[in-house]
Amino acid sequence: MHTQRILVTGGAGFVGSHLCDRLLESGAEVLCVDNYYTGSRLNVAQNLSNPRFELLRHDVTMPLYVEVDQIYNLACPASPVHYQFDPVQTTKTSVHGAINMLGLAKRVKAKILQASTSEVYGDPTIHPQVESYWGNVNPIGIRSCYDEGKRCAETLFFDYWRQHKLRIKVARIFNTYGPRMHPNDGRVVSNFIVQALKGEDITLYGDGTQTRSFCYVDDLVDGLIRLMNTGDDVTGPINLGNPVEFTMKQLAELVLELTGSKSALVHRPLPSDDPRQRQPDITLAKQHLDWTPTAPLKVGLMKTIEYFDGLLKAA
Ligand code: NAD
Ligand code: UDP
Ligand code: UDP
Repeated sequence: MHTQRILVTGGAGFVGSHLCDRLLESGAEVLCVDNYYTGSRLNVAQNLSNPRFELLRHDVTMPLYVEVDQIYNLACPASPVHYQFDPVQTTKTSVHGAINMLGLAKRVKAKILQASTSEVYGDPTIHPQVESYWGNVNPIGIRSCYDEGKRCAETLFFDYWRQHKLRIKVARIFNTYGPRMHPNDGRVVSNFIVQALKGEDITLYGDGTQTRSFCYVDDLVDGLIRLMNTGDDVTGPINLGNPVEFTMKQLAELVLELTGSKSALVHRPLPSDDPRQRQPDITLAKQHLDWTPTAPLKVGLMKTIEYFDGLLKAA
């Protein structure tokens, strides 16, 4: 078999850059496509001298003509602050981006994986969330550009599968964290760590009893690659996330403990449509991918703290 040629859209972002690293380690050729909206060339700088790596500035809302065997479609801003900055562009990225990447996959007969999200469940009324749950999403709220864009992308994936027999894989990714998160992207893990390291107040939105389940990025990337390499009968959607659930208050306290910071906890208003609770049911991932996350939150947080500490010292 020839060397696998793999396209990663959003490859200069947080998750995408780790994925590029791992695919290169496995011997593949990697074409990283990104418009640097939230990502950065710095995230993939370590690969620029690798002859199997290619970096292309391109916006996925525009057609792309390349020859590849696999496509990981990750292009899309992922944090509320970024995806709400230009909500129309967010929907376009998810919807037009999916159409273009599916059209490409159709033409070159590539396997294609979509980075979907736990946000398709909205503010879930069942707990933990299973893939068969249809979700509780506000179609006209401030999170809708992201949630509904991702839902429509899933619809497109399944219609290309039914109509054009494409080989598709849909991963529903739950909150993921780790080195190379954007320090200013407003997500809770990066916010708390940066605040703690700078000795600034830790901003707890609402009363801090809302929950999330955090997956370390190495575990997630392992799950994505396993999903891509399943047989053609496995399309997903499959949840990928760490089922260990924490309240935001517990997370804040853990970050304070691990950084040894004296920062104070302060409360800020809860943003609208903020989901109350979130925890993946990963039965399907265990069954089909033999996958289960291995990094405990403490261990992953330590690595992330180390990364941000280095970043802040270099600044
Ligand atoms: P990120 O913002 O770091 O990465 C997204 C990348 O896509 C960036 O490099 C950005 O520049 C690029 N991009 C955005 N719009 C583009 C466009 N129109 N054309 C080309 N490139 C574009 O976010 P991330 O956390 O790495 O997320 C990666 C993917 O995983 C996203 O699709 C996101 O929705 C999904 N996801 C992430 C999480 C998480 O917790 N990190 C959870 C659920 C789903
Ligand atoms: N497309 C692309 N690269 C390709 C093939 C298609 O970007 O190699 C885009 C193309 O611009 C088109 C979209 O993907 O708008 C959907 O392609 P498809 O073949 O499904 O539909 P059609 O071309 O009939 O609109
Ligand atoms: N959050 C918080 N303080 C912050 C940033 C976020 O308490 O500085 C809360 C936010 O309200 C949400 C949770 O942390 O309940 C996770 O937020 P994030 O934006 O990281 O992810 P998402 O809401 O998309 O899961």
